[in-house]
Amino acid sequence: MHFQDELRILLSSRHSLIYIVTNEEERLENTINKMAINDYPSNVYSWDFIDGYQNNPNYNEKARSNPLHALEVIENLDFSTSKIFILKDFHIFIKDSSIVRKIKNLFRKLKNSNLHIIIIASEIQVPKLLKEIITIIEFPLPNEEEIIMELNRLFSIMSTDCGIQLDSLALAYKGMSIELIRRSVTKLIFSQKPNQEIFEIISKEKQQFIRQTDLLDFYPINSSLEDIGGLFNLKQWLKKRSNVFSKQAQSYGLPAPKGILLVGIQGTGKSLSAKAISKQWNIPLLKLDIGRIFGGIVGESESKMREMIKLSEEFAPCVLWIDEIDKAFSRVNHSGDSGTTNRVLSSFLTWLSEKQKQVFIVATANNILNLPPEMLRKGRFDEIFFLDLPNLHERSKIFQIHLIKVRPLTWKHYNIQYLSELTGSFSGAEIKQSIIEAMHNAFYEKRDFTTNDIGDVVSEFIPLAFTDSSSILSLQEWAKLGKVRQASK
Ligand code: ADP
Repeated sequence: MHFQDELRILLSSRHSLIYIVTNEEERLENTINKMAINDYPSNVYSWDFIDGYQNNPNYNEKARSNPLHALEVIENLDFSTSKIFILKDFHIFIKDSSIVRKIKNLFRKLKNSNLHIIIIASEIQVPKLLKEIITIIEFPLPNEEEIIMELNRLFSIMSTDCGIQLDSLALAYKGMSIELIRRSVTKLIFSQKPNQEIFEIISKEKQQFIRQTDLLDFYPINSSLEDIGGLFNLKQWLKKRSNVFSKQAQSYGLPAPKGILLVGIQGTGKSLSAKAISKQWNIPLLKLDIGRIFGGIVGESESKMREMIKLSEEFAPCVLWIDEIDKAFSRVNHSGDSGTTNRVLSSFLTWLSEKQKQVFIVATANNILNLPPEMLRKGRFDEIFFLDLPNLHERSKIFQIHLIKVRPLTWKHYNIQYLSELTGSFSGAEIKQSIIEAMHNAFYEKRDFTTNDIGDVVSEFIPLAFTDSSSILSLQEWAKLGKVRQASK
């Protein structure tokens, strides 16, 4: 539902205390004022600690530096006409016991009136005593339409544009606040940079913005499906869904895919696949460090999970990569804090099954046997893929991919068939590692590296599959039970 519709419903259903969370105070105020033009003409009062009440000549500057008085002003006004009171930063004062009492008293009087108090706050800080009477909603970041309107406005003020199609520019800015967009556009217009560079700059600004939240990281996309050797079934699955987030797919009636879980042995390309998906689908990649959801004080994990969900939805369509999900959730039922972990897990799973926004989740796990069974149940992920150690043919593909990268002209001189046969039980990561190791050895001797250099490294290398064979075997056994799909053909 659009924010305006949500707020309109709350106002018309006589919700008298509404708490809106945002860092975009000015845009929210404009939105409320625009909405109020018809139903609350000239009856929006706005208060802040420094200036007191504004917008209404009879009350200008009333209740300066006095939040309690700000509430008394409301109490003493005539209740017969509709009015909206915007109280800024009130979460700071709401902790005070006299304010809490005043709000409770006021609430009883306001209940049957058409007066509404809207608290604008940058974070949720509602005392327990007020939780039942205050309705909390979030003000979302601007959507594409709003960004296009803002871009149009900015370009016409500056009588210029940067020669990029507005909708591509709006898509690039999606996930940023209007204030940041304004600053960025003004800077870019005067920079006279080529289009490609402009998009790179915007992407960097977005990275910084998202990093400040400390939960998600914006990941640069530099791998494609062509960089993955083997994993035929997984790649086919992804290729088939390449345009699934397009407008055409939506009007065709295709539901947006929820996400996939990639499980399997370390170094087999799970992370590589997450990165490649966002390139294949041409949508941004956000990485969640799930450990950050859990650290911190009691009760914080759940609100961090909510914040993460909200933030990722602002970036939709996007890929949300959750690395090593088994590490975070394997603790469920094992340790003392399982209460919190269980609650966070269940809110995550509910989101996974019910989410409407186009956030495609790619979760990766090394040890599926530790994962809670409810995560593996049908309807959670679209598919669970098992990534096994590469077979002979796949190993040869992986050698080819990595040799082409470092020796684009002479890669054919290497005996890939021989090396692939030599590297049974090696993972993709270990194959890449052997090439790099061989390069180091040859570089040290001031010559180019050869097939034999790689062969020498391989013969001394002990792959993880040898040292950790029991857990790999149990994973392979588990995968054979048919609960998961093999990522390779
Ligand atoms: P995982 O996430 O499964 O532990 P990664 O995707 O991080 O493994 O693999 C590490 C690196 O190993 C990759 O960045 C890539 O260079 C190489 N690699 C692993 N698997 C493959 C593969 N199937 N094809 C090509 N390269 C691979």
